[in-house]
Amino acid sequence: MTLFEKIIARDIPADIVYEDEACIAINDINPQAPHHVLIIPRKVIPRVGDAAAEDQAALGALLLAAGKIARQLGVIDTTSGFRLVINHGHDAGETVPHMHVHLLAGRGLEWPPG
Ligand code: 5GP
Repeated sequence: MTLFEKIIARDIPADIVYEDEACIAINDINPQAPHHVLIIPRKVIPRVGDAAAEDQAALGALLLAAGKIARQLGVIDTTSGFRLVINHGHDAGETVPHMHVHLLAGRGLEWPPG
C-alpha cells in the first residue's frame, strides 16, 4: 500500500481539506507555501506518465477539485492565484509513487521554478 492509500484508508492521519468520489485532498506535512495541498486520486496511478486512457476521468477530477479547493482557500481570484505541480520521477523531485497534484498558494511563487 502506498502512503497515500493508507491516508485514504484512514490508517494514517492527515488533515483532509476536500474529498469526493474520485480524490482526496490533504494539507502537505511539509508545506512549501502558506497553502500547500496535495490532491490525490483514490485510484493508484504511480506517476502521471503512467496514466492510461481509462484514467482520463480520474485525471480530470483532480483539476476540477483544484479549482474547488482554490475557491475554498480564497485564492481563486487572479490577484492572488495558485500553482499546480505534478512531480514525475527523480529529477522532478517525486518522493511518493502515487501521483498527486500539489496546490501551492498564499505567497508569490518564482518562475521559473527551482
Ligand atoms: P512528491 O515529492 O512525491 O511530489 O510529493 C510528496 C509530498 O508528500 C511531499 O510534499 C511531502 O511533504 C508530502 N508528504 C510526505 N509524507 C506525508 C505524510 O505523511 N502526510 C502528509 N500530509 N504529507 C506527506
